[in-house]
Formats: sequence, C-alpha cells, structure tokens
Amino acid sequence: MLDPLVNWFKENQRHLPWRITYDPYQVWVSEVMLQQTQVETALPYYERFIKEFPSIEHLAGAGEERVLALWAGLGYYQRARNLMAAARIVAEKHDGKLPAGYDELIALPGVGQYMAGAILSIAFNKPFPVVDGNVRRVLSRVYGWTEENPKALWDAAARIVRESEPRMVNQAVMELGAKICSFKSPRCLLCPVQQYCIAFRTGMQDKIPPVKKRPATVRVHLFAVVHQKAGRCLMREVDGMWEFPMFSELPAGNFERAGSCRHTITHHRLEVSVYRGEIGTADGIWKKPDTVPISSLTRKIFKAADFADDSDA
Ligand code: SF4
Repeated sequence: MLDPLVNWFKENQRHLPWRITYDPYQVWVSEVMLQQTQVETALPYYERFIKEFPSIEHLAGAGEERVLALWAGLGYYQRARNLMAAARIVAEKHDGKLPAGYDELIALPGVGQYMAGAILSIAFNKPFPVVDGNVRRVLSRVYGWTEENPKALWDAAARIVRESEPRMVNQAVMELGAKICSFKSPRCLLCPVQQYCIAFRTGMQDKIPPVKKRPATVRVHLFAVVHQKAGRCLMREVDGMWEFPMFSELPAGNFERAGSCRHTITHHRLEVSVYRGEIGTADGIWKKPDTVPISSLTRKIFKAADFADDSDA
C-alpha cells in the first residue's frame, strides 16, 4: 500500500514553504504551529514568523513580547514560549543547529514523541513514526481497528516508516487524513489505498476510529471592562499576553454596557459582556492594544467595546 500512497502524495501534496528545502528549523516551526491549528490558518503566521526570525539564532535572540506579538491570534501561547526557550537551548548547546537525535530533541521544551518523530522523519528523513489525529484515523480505518489501541497504532506507524522513505510516507499519511480520509465524509473513491482498506471493504468508515469521549462543554460568563483614554487602555499582562481586566461579577463602578462576544477555549465556551468605563489605575498599565501581544479573545473584546471615535493621542 505504501507505493501508491507515496506516489499519490508526490502528485497531490500541497506546496508549503517548509517543503521546499526541508530546512530543520522551518519544519520545526511549522510543526509547532500546526499543533491544534489548520494549515490554511497557520500559513500567514508561519510566513511572518520566518521572515522576522529566519534562523534559530534570530529566534534565540528575540524578545518574548515580539515573539508573542507574531503569534497573537494563533492561540496556545505556551507553544511559542516553548519554541523560544528551546531555540535558546539549541543556540547555546548545539551551535544553533537543531539536533538530529531523538534523545537531544525530546529534551527540548515543547518537544514530545510526536514532535520528535515529525522533525526526525520530515526534516532529517529518518525512520521515526508519527501519530496524530490524521494518522490515527487513516491507520485505524486501513487496519479495521474498531477499538482504541495506542500501542498498535504506534507500532504500525513505526513499521510503515521503516518500509518506505520516512519523509514522504509520514507526510503522505497525514496529508491523506487531512485531504481525503476526513472524519465525517471520507472520499474513498479517490483514495490511493482504497483496495487495502478494511473500513472501506466492510463499510465501517463511520465506526472507525471509535469516537473519543470529549469533556462536557463548560459555559462561563465573564465581564470585561475596557477603560480607554487618549487611545490607550488599561491592560494587564498575563504570561506575556496583554488583556483587559475581566471579572466573574461586574465590580461596582461607573460603567456602560458596550456589547458582548463569545470565545471558545478547548471545552470552555466563554460569553463575555463588555463594558466601557473607568476602572482604578491599580488594575493595569496604559497600553495601546495594537502595539502589544493580545489574544483573539482580547481582540474581540476590544472590537465589542467599539472605541472607533476615540482618536489616538
Ligand atoms: Fe480512508 Fe476511505 Fe481511504 Fe479507507 S478507503 S483510508 S476510509 S479514504
């Protein structure tokens, strides 16, 4: 099954910037961004990031605020902090070159079994397996596994990567999962491994892989207060990101309701009532929201506060 799969990938792969030279640093940055994020969403962030930090040395020498500003909107900011911390270690201990050994890679902040396998196989073309959601879905369907079995999955991934060109086969399985073997409606008639696929033969695509139980959605209602003066707002810094003061209950004060917004973080669904008003200066530092790293939620709150008329000073 691997030859048709790899040939399909060679003909149909998306042309992505890190696939031009497979530079290890570029592959690493792309993999970090693609955790929890679709390729189409990550692409403009990737291009801005690589333009500003074209090498590990550039990233290692960067300030956290600038790195987070470039990451702002992608979410999961711990990824960016880990990437920066790891770049500093690589600059210091490995002469600025991403190591090509599993033990050295896994010792870096933010690098786990998946990430180490992805870097080693895609950047260095070494036979290390990867298992992400796409790989899990494709391999479970091909082998007809109706029950969860992480060990069998990693073993199968390790087997196929040894039997073909590591860089190609790992990307091919992931790409097949992303483009053809989708969760809800796999396009089996276009699939290069259809004849090897047990789920296809038995019509079990919608039963495989078994659906994982998700934690129940938790609704949270918050109150955000945006205090703006002469183009600056009172903001607080939390782990390098800037946000408006938020409360579980609206504090006493001189506020007017401006609007509301919604935001989802993992299984938390936030409903935020946005107020304009004056809040004690002890609650923050005066900042221009467009000059500091802010999350998508903070951006939504600022939009809901609607200060279009307050011109800059
Ligand atoms: Fe997925 Fe269908 Fe291909 Fe099987 S034949 S791997 S279910 S797309």
